[in-house]
Amino acid sequence: MPSLAAPDASVIARYQPVIGLEVHCQLATRTKIFCGCATGFGAAPNTNVCPVCLGLPGALPVLNKQAVEFAIQAALALNCRVNPVSVFARKNYFYPDLPKGYQISQFDKPLAEHGYVDIEVNGVKKRIGITRIHMEDDAGKSIHDGFKDSDKYTYVDLNRTGTPLIEIVSEPDIRSADEAHAYLTELKQVLQYVGVSTCDMEKGHLRCDANVSVMLKGADKFGTKAEVKNLNSFRFLKLAVDQEIERQVGIVDSGGRVMQETRLFNPATGETVTMRSKENAHDYRYFPEPDLVPLKISEAWMANVQAAMTELPASRRARFTGEYGLREYDAQVLTAERETSDYFEQVVKASGDARAAANWVMGDLAALLKDAEKSIAESPISAANLGRLIKLIAEGKISGKIAKELLPKMAESGDAPETLVEREGLSQISDEGALLKIIDEVIAANPKQLEQYRAGKTTVIGFFVGQVMKASRGQGDPAVVNRLLKDKL
Ligand code: ADP
Ligand code: ZN
Ligand code: MG
Repeated sequence: MPSLAAPDASVIARYQPVIGLEVHCQLATRTKIFCGCATGFGAAPNTNVCPVCLGLPGALPVLNKQAVEFAIQAALALNCRVNPVSVFARKNYFYPDLPKGYQISQFDKPLAEHGYVDIEVNGVKKRIGITRIHMEDDAGKSIHDGFKDSDKYTYVDLNRTGTPLIEIVSEPDIRSADEAHAYLTELKQVLQYVGVSTCDMEKGHLRCDANVSVMLKGADKFGTKAEVKNLNSFRFLKLAVDQEIERQVGIVDSGGRVMQETRLFNPATGETVTMRSKENAHDYRYFPEPDLVPLKISEAWMANVQAAMTELPASRRARFTGEYGLREYDAQVLTAERETSDYFEQVVKASGDARAAANWVMGDLAALLKDAEKSIAESPISAANLGRLIKLIAEGKISGKIAKELLPKMAESGDAPETLVEREGLSQISDEGALLKIIDEVIAANPKQLEQYRAGKTTVIGFFVGQVMKASRGQGDPAVVNRLLKDKL
């Protein structure tokens, strides 16, 4: 079909996009799903393989218990119902990087169903349904190399063959590229949080296919969808969805019909191109995997797996605003990553002050980590030490200003704040005698301001406090200084 000119924004605005995502997520097991081979990334090609993952005749798969437990945790975290019995099925197709000639997946009896995630786009909250989560093994990798026709090779690396995956299929509830982006963001956060996957998109641990269709606004029947594969970054997801919406509106609005097909996103051109017309399920000749018994998950096993799970971000967010009285925004930031929430809670424990802990973690500590290009998990300042620093301020032992100056020194030395305060002689002067001496000197040195104050311009006290703090190198306790000054003046 000749390519059509891109439709105007006003034309696109008459159409309602409908989107459903299929997300593959690599589970963080040490070994593969049906054999004992390592799952590690970066090993020499074709070294992490055995008769099972190579699909050699007579080799038998044995299901990895850890993979099932990770899949259950993912399902629970995504609010799914876990089926007490699910069934592995063979999905037959030929591909050079699929030595078995079939993928072991799940078909009509998946591990889990009926879940959801909540997203927010431009302040509007929305629930996106999750149809199903099933387990499957990954294929190997084809590496296309060479630039000239005479020098073109494809290499096959089977190390990835048999790596455990879950596929998470959403309902067609998504209505824009922004919502798709928000959905994938939430999914990634939850999966990382519960620790079932690194979700490292650069390593292909999280991969996304987008199903897109368009219909006239107000229509009651969805249009024909096309599936765009190969979306390995958030940016590509957004670009590809928008591009696909534009392409389909162009076709439909000029009286054409969208073909049901699989398309590939080309990051170089920002366009999607036909890969193959959509095979239907029938073509895969799914049938129950004869070498594996149905997967039965007892209530006791479920309970154990659930008990071992970490607290989820949404619950933690609610607790941070409720229990700790944090603002919604702060709770959001502090629960974006599990490491940040863990760190923050340790600071709260050590300092006893959640508001102050939030300010320090999101403010000075975050800035320091950014400069050092370090994640919070690599923070040179332990949560316990930051907590103690906050406590020193609360106890009046140091001023907030001194505390800010101490932070980089703590990072450099790794020392506890008390040690540094002692070594550098920074403890706050609340000894009234020492402060009075400074106050006398300051008053004597500023007769003009003294006169103003005594003439009734009491705001001048701010000037005096400043001078005293300066003379005490920031070590004066501002409250004490204020009180003493008032007496003196
Ligand atoms: P298929 O049988 O082609 O695999 P499914 O019904 O299993 O299709 O759906 C696959 C994905 O496509 C799901 O994420 C689903 O939400 C989405 N989807 C289904 N119909 C549409 C549609 N008309 N427009 C956009 N996405 C859709
Ligand atoms: Zn193996
Ligand atoms: Mg399907």
